[in-house]
Amino acid sequence: MSAPGLPFDDRDGFIWYDGRLVPWRDAKLHVLTHGLHYASCVFEGERVYSGTVFRLEDHNQRLINSAKILGFEIPASMDDLQKATEQLIAANKIVEGYVRPIAWRGAEQMGVSAQDSKIHLALAAWDWPAYFSPEARAKGIRMLWSRWARPAPHTAPVHAKASGLYMICTMAKHEAEAQGCDDALMLDWRGQLAEGTGANIFLVINGELHTPTPDCFLNGLTRQTVIALARQRGIKVIERAIMPNELGEADEVFLTGSAAEVTPVGEIIGTGGHYRFTPGTICRLMWEDYDRLVGKKVAATAA
Ligand code: PMP
Repeated sequence: MSAPGLPFDDRDGFIWYDGRLVPWRDAKLHVLTHGLHYASCVFEGERVYSGTVFRLEDHNQRLINSAKILGFEIPASMDDLQKATEQLIAANKIVEGYVRPIAWRGAEQMGVSAQDSKIHLALAAWDWPAYFSPEARAKGIRMLWSRWARPAPHTAPVHAKASGLYMICTMAKHEAEAQGCDDALMLDWRGQLAEGTGANIFLVINGELHTPTPDCFLNGLTRQTVIALARQRGIKVIERAIMPNELGEADEVFLTGSAAEVTPVGEIIGTGGHYRFTPGTICRLMWEDYDRLVGKKVAATAA
């Protein structure tokens, strides 16, 4: 969990806002913004390593697709998005950090319908070394079973990285933190294992990787990267429906996400049953392979 630090609306630096860099504190919007009231808003979460975003093109493509799913068009091309990102990283002198592009419907119309609203686009970037604390990451994070389930594909735009989908993630994560946990673990609407509040999940069973089929949640870019890395090592990866009690057969469990990177899970508590895991060989391999690929120094001590 990132501790409260400087508020995000009161910092030095620049934000790219509707086509130009503006001083950080001036990147404002009106309270009658459709995106705020009705969650007509999509975003991305990108990691910067040595001044460059890892898989930038894929993040930008997902942003464009997310908007398309919600019925609007990002007012920038792939090329514009890339240039804006580079300009922003340079202006804020980000070396190891995070980029948050966001697009939303503006304030031209107030009501559920917003056919003629202007689409706004902003990008912010900040230094952000780790999502989970190094201690939590080393021994494995603690997760709480969430009472919130990932919605069915016909009840929400589950393949968009859309703000509205995070309402239950924040509620789940707050409940987890109130019980001394780092994150919440969510099932899907069928009762199958789904994901964390901002990361996908993998189980190591008999030396193979098992991960839920992403049919009602994001098929994360980090998830896809880790699957490719595992296969390169000859580790079998199986995407399938996984029931929560199968955690009892897992030797290791870890999460993947642009922010979370590869993060071992040490314990799961709550109504779905109590499980403990010791981060071991495969967690460490995946963590190190991922760090190597993104250009970080490999100094993992997961076990
Ligand atoms: N699931 C959710 C709910 C997320 O917010 C994220 C982070 N974007 C992921 C999974 C992992 O996606 P990625 O690896 O592309 O960051």
